[in-house]
Amino acid sequence: MQLDAKIPGGPLEGKWDRHRFELKLVSPANKRKYDIVVVGTGLAGASASSALAELGYNVKTFCLQDSPRRAHSIAAQGGINAAKNYPNDGDSIWRLFYDTIKGGDFRSREANVYRLAQVSNLIIDHCVALGIPFAREYGGLLANRSFGGAQVSRTFYARGQTGQQLLLCCYQGLMRQVTKGQVQMFPRREMLDLVLVNGQARGIVVRNLLNGQIESHTAHAVVLATGGYANVFFLSTNGASGNVSAIWKAYKKGAGFANPCFTQIHPTCIPVHGDYQSKLTLMSESLRNDGRVWVPKQPGDKRPPPEIPESERDYFLERLYPSFGNLAPRDLASRAVKLMCDQGKGVGPTGQAVYLDFADAIKRLGREEIEARYGNLFQMYRKIVDQDPYETPMMIYPAAHYTMGGLWVDYNLMSTINGLFVLGEANFSDHGANRLGASALMQGLADGYFILPYTVGGYLADTRFSEVTTSHPAFREAEAEARARTERLLSIRGRRTAASFHRELGMIMWEYCGMSRNDEGLKKARKLVADLRREFWENLLIPGSEADLNQSLERAGRVADFLEFAELMLIDALARRESCGCHFNEAFQTEDHEPLRDDANMCHVAVWEYAGEGQEPIFHKEPLVFENVKLTVRSYK
Ligand SMILES: Cc1cc2nc3c(=O)[nH]c(=O)nc-3n(C[C@H](O)[C@H](O)[C@H](O)COP(=O)(O)OP(=O)(O)OC[C@H]3O[C@@H](n4cnc5c(N)ncnc54)[C@H](O)[C@@H]3O)c2cc1C
Repeated sequence: MQLDAKIPGGPLEGKWDRHRFELKLVSPANKRKYDIVVVGTGLAGASASSALAELGYNVKTFCLQDSPRRAHSIAAQGGINAAKNYPNDGDSIWRLFYDTIKGGDFRSREANVYRLAQVSNLIIDHCVALGIPFAREYGGLLANRSFGGAQVSRTFYARGQTGQQLLLCCYQGLMRQVTKGQVQMFPRREMLDLVLVNGQARGIVVRNLLNGQIESHTAHAVVLATGGYANVFFLSTNGASGNVSAIWKAYKKGAGFANPCFTQIHPTCIPVHGDYQSKLTLMSESLRNDGRVWVPKQPGDKRPPPEIPESERDYFLERLYPSFGNLAPRDLASRAVKLMCDQGKGVGPTGQAVYLDFADAIKRLGREEIEARYGNLFQMYRKIVDQDPYETPMMIYPAAHYTMGGLWVDYNLMSTINGLFVLGEANFSDHGANRLGASALMQGLADGYFILPYTVGGYLADTRFSEVTTSHPAFREAEAEARARTERLLSIRGRRTAASFHRELGMIMWEYCGMSRNDEGLKKARKLVADLRREFWENLLIPGSEADLNQSLERAGRVADFLEFAELMLIDALARRESCGCHFNEAFQTEDHEPLRDDANMCHVAVWEYAGEGQEPIFHKEPLVFENVKLTVRSYK
């Protein structure tokens, strides 16, 4: 496997401009000769589809749900970053770049991150033009708030429903192209395989989820924008359909998988309250603009919050990270919460929670203002927990939330397979070992609206294609394999549901590959996962048939992939002999329990190549070269 990141030469600030000029173009008359498959209709996929269609390419777009607008991006709450510096508080493209590199604990590529910061400003202008109702100041200017890991206010938002507003607008753009006939939309389709011809990605095989039919679709380029894989933990803040399957199939066809163990645990979620739960709910990071996080100083203190005087409270994030306070980045905040709970200071019935308290903010700003900023989030909390956060502090605990790992891509967002592009949360590109809040939406839209439309053209203009139809043997083979796998799953007729295997897998991964990891636990988890996978293929129960809507069958396919993928996560976590960002191996920590990086030996992207069933994956590394920022100990104190 060759890892050529194709980073353009020259000064950082000019790389993208220069590269765009150097990329070959497809003339307007020729664009209509190319077909592009886009899998996924979240912010990354919907923006890519409409932008490519607007340019004149023929686009076929696929998603799992009945409507493209049900992609998980709809759930994003807090906001989207950009370096506009509207509040005049010292922001700049350079600062957004630096904050993101530092936030990722110096494990991402300088050139990609700088480009992301550059195009962030275009995204806001574009979104405003599309009609996104961003919050505004009294005078009409767009409002900003702060997110973790930043000392400026650069987050644009639409209350606590930014993702919803953004996705609805992207969806409108997409549907405009559907109406024009430039995009063919295929909802309720699940990609089951990627098809390669002469080493090029030339199409996909999908299952029609309504009638079970297997369908093939050819293309000159395939774009995967299938989101993240945090559901490997079973309980996560992600939508229930989140999966690793599409990118896992691509991995098995030769796409390198980068940093699979880099998974973000978000500090502010509604704590687990029973084993009947199938999902966890995020309380947006934006709440930490005004909410203060605390625990009782005394372990085991069970008094209700109003009875605990100020002097007996520990506002531990403000104490540990005075310059960023409650807006410390997610990895550090999550571990601090865990530490407090491990020390017996956790609150609530399980002791696995800390307070997020708005009493001071309500006193300072008034209830009405807090309601304007976070009303829908407070309402959501009240509905789920049956407590009123205006009256009593919220209780929060970390939960699996986002995956920085994903398919390896070069500067053009192309994977190690020619013609296979990967966007949004499905790629590994910009966030290193820890993503800063409000930067996933920024990355998804940057990839879809502002990067792919250039780089895909460069690829198409520079590549020779043979004529390929769905009768090609490569499609026939992929279809046969997809059918055989479905039959195999249905024929087991055991006693355990896919959901029950998924839950057990999630518990293993959370315990041994979650917020804190050690070699012994990771090795143990490998064995547990292998045993569970064996049992899955002997004892799985799927009611119903393949010929109609069968969500148990869909689930089983995704869990089968998670059971394979989980092992790669564990292998990757074991191979990274350092702690960095979200990856905290207990053997590598400072006296203050901060992660201890090893820049001399570990300053790289870990990329794994599939070596065949039952074989250890092959390790490759892309060294990370820092020419513009100095590697320092990441401090928020
Ligand atoms: C609760 C929550 C709140 C968040 N809030 C914020 C925030 O405020 N700001 C921020 O920047 N980020 C936020 N994030 C992160 C952000 O929402 C996601 O990273 C981002 O929306 C991912 O977008 P995407 O386009 O990559 O994928 P998604 O939106 O996940 O879309 C994936 C698409 O792929 C399709 N798909 C998946 N697998 C297949 C398959 N096998 N076959 C066919 N189709 C498939 C799905 O149907 C879907 O259309 C939040 C995340 C969560 C969980």
